[in-house]
Amino acid sequence: MVLELRNAKKTFGEGNTLVEALKETNFLVERGELVAVIGPSGSGKSTFLTVAGGLQSPSEGQVMINGKELSQLNEKQRSKIRLQEIGFILQASNLVPFLTVDQQLELLNKVKKNNMSPVEKKQLYEDLGITKLHKKYPSDLSGGERQRVAIAKALFSNSSIILADEPTASLDSDRAFEVMELLQHETKSKQTATIVVTHDTRLMKYFDKVYKMTDGVLELDTTIYE
Ligand code: ADP
Ligand code: MG
Repeated sequence: MVLELRNAKKTFGEGNTLVEALKETNFLVERGELVAVIGPSGSGKSTFLTVAGGLQSPSEGQVMINGKELSQLNEKQRSKIRLQEIGFILQASNLVPFLTVDQQLELLNKVKKNNMSPVEKKQLYEDLGITKLHKKYPSDLSGGERQRVAIAKALFSNSSIILADEPTASLDSDRAFEVMELLQHETKSKQTATIVVTHDTRLMKYFDKVYKMTDGVLELDTTIYE
């Protein structure tokens, strides 16, 4: 067991402005599993992912990461878990504006151990087609390039959990397939637990399980196995 939500719920506002962004949810992802969450805009996918990764607390219920219940920890301990155990690929890319591509990854070497070796990093850059971009700043990159650098940053840290919000949204089909192959390879070879939020139905063949989000309700989608 790597990541589990128990009766987790997230609401915003109150009274007649109350939004139940994530209705009561039970969810489990194990090592070596690559899981998709699909659903329309506004259905609660990003809320689910950020609650699962401890970026926001559930209004009710629990989130367990590698056996630790997040609400039992203080913010410092939670941020340590996020740093050590979770690789985020978020929609608003989490690149530092004043650092080059290389410096973004170098920063991780300063704050945590067990990142990829220089040889693995070189291969990662090649797999993502960003080798030539290593001295550039985020503002010099296209949307698709920034997205691939964000993916590099998340995978470089060798986290046990990868949480990706629309990681292929700015990529053309070939690149999107390459990125999914890379995520699949990392998930299987390193036995990570990977959750990918996506709209993109072309990618379904890569996933072990597909969940559908509808108005804050997360359900396993069994139709893809028919
Ligand atoms: P998705 O990622 O599927 O597009 P979100 O999780 O971003 O959906 O949003 C789900 C619902 O929760 C939407 O109605 C959205 O407006 C609402 N919501 C999300 N975050 C907040 C917030 N911080 N404050 C108020 N409402 C929010
Ligand atoms: Mg979203």
